[in-house]
Amino acid sequence: MAERILEVDNLCTQFKTERGLLKAIDGVSFEVYRGEMLGIVGESGCGKSVTSQSILRLYDEKNLAVYSGQVRFEGQNLFDLSQKEMQKIRGARISMVFQDALSSLNPVFTVGNQIMEALMIHQNISKKDAREKAVKMLGMVGIPDPEGRFFQYPFELSGGMRQRVMIAVALACRPDILIADEPTTALDVTIQAQIMDLMVEMNRKLDMGVMLITHDLAVVAETCHRVLVMYLGQIVEEGLVEDIFDRPLHPYTKGLIASIPKLDSQKGEKLHQIKGTVPVLGKVPEGCRFAPRCPYAGAECRTKAPELKKVNESQKVRCHLADRRADRG
Ligand code: SF4
Repeated sequence: MAERILEVDNLCTQFKTERGLLKAIDGVSFEVYRGEMLGIVGESGCGKSVTSQSILRLYDEKNLAVYSGQVRFEGQNLFDLSQKEMQKIRGARISMVFQDALSSLNPVFTVGNQIMEALMIHQNISKKDAREKAVKMLGMVGIPDPEGRFFQYPFELSGGMRQRVMIAVALACRPDILIADEPTTALDVTIQAQIMDLMVEMNRKLDMGVMLITHDLAVVAETCHRVLVMYLGQIVEEGLVEDIFDRPLHPYTKGLIASIPKLDSQKGEKLHQIKGTVPVLGKVPEGCRFAPRCPYAGAECRTKAPELKKVNESQKVRCHLADRRADRG
């Protein structure tokens, strides 16, 4: 059994607004294991990015966010730590790669300097050692001529190369967990595939737990071991990648999978759509949150909120009909 390195237990994140507190994440619980790639999927607004940023406590706690629940890393609840203690975890033990490398990298420092900075903040090493390690990291993430590239600025690199640099910065301190938030969304298709191959290679080489946040189910199917499907701030389905893609049980998961374009589609065949949109925060429907968009919604669904229930060894579903669907196989 792989080592459990992160436990998120009943996480709730509320944002302070003029209309009062709005709950963006509502009772999310899951684990991350060493060596696994965990996909977190859902439409925009489902809470996948807020979940990952809450784990690292990236929202301003004075003016913006109120967290509750627990995020346990090595048995320590991260919500009990001071901001100073959190700084030792961020970037060193739990790292993050964002979608847009151009705005995440500092434009006035060379890429080599930015990797060195991560190393020197978190590891007690000399400038010379940090420089050597930074060049090695650039080579490790597949940047050709790492000694030469070390002295370049972000604007001198292509989008794919910048994303590789971001990954090098994130991995420089050999974190236990890497959170990759839509790491390929801003890239074109061929570069996307290269970056995902690199993520898989690094996951194997460094034996980290990787949380891959994405709306792209095809990427999850190819790269992840387990999947969390989120809708309106809650997990609605969780399972191994084969559970989710071969035997999806939640109508939302089914809708997402049916929306993936197929290579053998007939000319003129319409792509499946999930009707409606994710409601805005503060307008959460009564009962099942997915009921207004669900083709199977019945009377019970509109009044009673379903619990996330285990339906087999590896799969959990939040739907009143889940047991019946699981029985049917
Ligand atoms: Fe649909 Fe009802 Fe299941 Fe919600 S509980 S997903 S509305 S069938």
